[in-house]
Amino acid sequence: MKEKMLASVEAGGTKFVCAIGDEKKNIVKTIQFPTEDPESTIKNLLDFLHPYKNKLEAISVASFGPIDIKLDSDTYGYITSTPKRHWENIDLIGPLSDAFSCPIFFTTDVNASAYGEMQARDKDNLVYYTIGTGIGGGVIINRKLLSGIGHLELGHNYLAKHPEDVNFSGVCPYHGACLEGLASGPSIEKRLGTKGENVSSDHPIWDIQAYYIAQATIQATLSYRPEVIVLGGGVMGQEHMLMRIKKHFECLLNGYVQIPKIDEYLVTPYYDNNMSATYGNFSLAQSLISEQ
Ligand code: ADP
Ligand code: ZN
Repeated sequence: MKEKMLASVEAGGTKFVCAIGDEKKNIVKTIQFPTEDPESTIKNLLDFLHPYKNKLEAISVASFGPIDIKLDSDTYGYITSTPKRHWENIDLIGPLSDAFSCPIFFTTDVNASAYGEMQARDKDNLVYYTIGTGIGGGVIINRKLLSGIGHLELGHNYLAKHPEDVNFSGVCPYHGACLEGLASGPSIEKRLGTKGENVSSDHPIWDIQAYYIAQATIQATLSYRPEVIVLGGGVMGQEHMLMRIKKHFECLLNGYVQIPKIDEYLVTPYYDNNMSATYGNFSLAQSLISEQ
């Protein structure tokens, strides 16, 4: 009998992480390569998948964005208005569907992570945020990814400024001081002139960051009423961050709605190294097969 395989492609702004999995979602092969110019990066992706051409049952691609996920759009499968140099209006799915005949799912990186976390935790309603080079969020309601006329953009909500941060104009090229502009990794570097990983854990910046991330989790709580909010991404590598966020969260929510116990409600990812995106992709790929 023919072996059946699934492919996960996590197209990140810094690197691509690709994996081949068997039907039980065991990983049989992985590769990582840097996100360089679109032409050579997409070639690396096609070269990795090519040996599995006849075995692949479905592929799921989870990409940095913004991306076009509207099936009837002329630019479906494109990375659209990204600030990332050379990647604006790039067709990511076209070259894959030209090379492979199997179905291909296309979503945001955070949606795939949210999906993987949903399955690992067996929750029906979940929000996942990444706080890294950018900020993004994926929302699951009743075990389905939420989107409207496009995917959600939770990283670009506007926030109230921290009183000790009023003069900082933020780093978002579109909005300045939106959530991503104020709380992403590059916002730390812009304020302090050094990367977050080099900043000591008692620096006042962390409480400012935590205040902004807590506001995001308040918005998610009130907008979607999830069972759990997962906070991933490089900035959450600061182990004290979660505790700081919880403190601000409780203060801002002020008991307005019932939530699960805070330690079970605001959490870091179930899997290390964003493996939730890989497992989420495998499941999303499988859901395409079952739809056929
Ligand atoms: P990406 O968003 O590019 O996929 P990450 O989620 O690792 O990757 O986020 C990278 C960002 O997180 C960078 O701005 C980096 O400076 C910051 N970062 C990484 N590790 C830490 C850390 N331990 N503390 C604070 N910031 C960090
Ligand atoms: Zn923005």
